[in-house]
Amino acid sequence: MFDRSRPLNHRPVRPGPVLYWMNRDQRASDNWALLTAQQAAVQSGQPLLVVFCLQEAFLGARPEHFSFMLEGLLETARELQDFNIPFIVRQGNPDRAVLAVAGQIQAGLVVTDFSPLRLPRQWRQDLAVAADQAGLAVWEADAHNIIPCWLASDKLEFAARTIRPKIQRQLPAWLTDLPALVRHPVDLAGELLQDVSGPGARAVIQQALADLALQSASDGRRQTLPPPGPAAARQRLSQFTTESLKEFDRRNDPNLPVSSRLSPYLHFGQISAQRVALAVQAAAQGEPDLATPAASFLEELIVRRELSDNFCFYNPDYDNWNGFPAWARQTLERHRADPRAYRYSDEQLENGQTHDPLWNTAQLELRDTGQMPGYLRMYWAKKLLEWCATPEQAQQIAIALNDGLAIDGRDPNGYVGVAWSIGGVHDRPWGERPVFGTIRTMTYDGCRRKFSVDDYIRKGRYRRDG
Ligand SMILES: Cc1cc2nc3c(=O)[nH]c(=O)nc-3n(C[C@H](O)[C@H](O)[C@H](O)COP(=O)(O)OP(=O)(O)OC[C@H]3O[C@@H](n4cnc5c(N)ncnc54)[C@H](O)[C@@H]3O)c2cc1C
Repeated sequence: MFDRSRPLNHRPVRPGPVLYWMNRDQRASDNWALLTAQQAAVQSGQPLLVVFCLQEAFLGARPEHFSFMLEGLLETARELQDFNIPFIVRQGNPDRAVLAVAGQIQAGLVVTDFSPLRLPRQWRQDLAVAADQAGLAVWEADAHNIIPCWLASDKLEFAARTIRPKIQRQLPAWLTDLPALVRHPVDLAGELLQDVSGPGARAVIQQALADLALQSASDGRRQTLPPPGPAAARQRLSQFTTESLKEFDRRNDPNLPVSSRLSPYLHFGQISAQRVALAVQAAAQGEPDLATPAASFLEELIVRRELSDNFCFYNPDYDNWNGFPAWARQTLERHRADPRAYRYSDEQLENGQTHDPLWNTAQLELRDTGQMPGYLRMYWAKKLLEWCATPEQAQQIAIALNDGLAIDGRDPNGYVGVAWSIGGVHDRPWGERPVFGTIRTMTYDGCRRKFSVDDYIRKGRYRRDG
């Protein structure tokens, strides 16, 4: 189990309770970081404590997205209690908060989740350095990817075709059954627990939820999101495998609800990608009709998703122009001065007020439900390239809208999806066109050939007008 983790500083584990700082992977079951922390604690006969740090704002997320996360955490807190694992919440700067808790309980080891994104990496690095000075070991465990990101590949991959063989070669060793969390055999001393718990995690979360409800009421607009939490995630997975997996290869038609719609749960770590992969494999076992759709799904869930983490982990410019490959920057540079047929303000874009009814419907679906069908996400981002003054501006607007409105936003998949659409990341040159150069284009007529654009627009109108 320890092979999914790696040390972030050079301190050896010392006697004392184990502290798991939960952040990207917000669940009790199927969580390699929590399992790693528990194993370390059990081996040395120590108690185990879980801490979560609440941030006031994270990359422009909406209040409803925080509520989605907090409702999931309430459920996770209840599950952890059943396993005799106390869960506490802190507010403010995570690295300082975690170190303070570690000091209060005289922890011997801190284990945390892996994330390839800039801000969480900075927190971990700051924690590792400060903990090093305090003589405290810090490990990270990749509970999000099936193959730990740093082992899947040791370099920046060019495309799915370059990472796929590496993943396929290693997958049998990693896509194994997940062990169960056990009822933790050692209690944290009562006085210590009282000292660190403060008002109690549930009270803090309930208060934060109440504050968010007020905030989103005063915003005037509220997104209708799917039900939050690990139980809802498991329910979605079960519905997907029994009802729509067989149709998965028709997912590019946004009128058919056949994709898994698991991304909000995967993003907040309310379900494990490994559990999802095992469930899909099990569903397809002995069912010849499911073999092809299951393989397509696993390609998205494993190869594409782990490729996104690879890009963000090895490319510090994952969300800006410098992250685009050289061929893409050259072609976009050559077409920088091409006239743009349409230009829109940020407000027109956010409110879906362009000349393109397909784009507007997709944008309003995103604004009102926090979700947009996968195929349309590509079209949506590519149109921004066509309409914005510069590719840099198109990328920034796409990221701001996606991070701000999408329930699964602020995710490596989002930065890579935008960089693929606008900057040719993981793609190749196509035929030369105005503005796009050799970046792959998508057109309204092309969409008409793939699915009923009119039906999609009509359904969007019903949704909004009730
Ligand atoms: C411009 C743009 C922005 C995007 N923003 C996000 C985002 O913010 N968050 C996000 O999770 N995905 C994002 N994607 C990737 C993809 O569109 C979504 O993951 C997918 O639509 C989610 O729906 P689903 O869960 O029904 O996916 P399914 O089709 O059921 O796929 C299952 C899972 O595989 C993964 N996956 C699917 N497609 C991709 C892909 N192309 N790249 C990487 N992983 C993939 C996701 O985790 C997804 O939940 C974006 C794509 C583009 C082009």
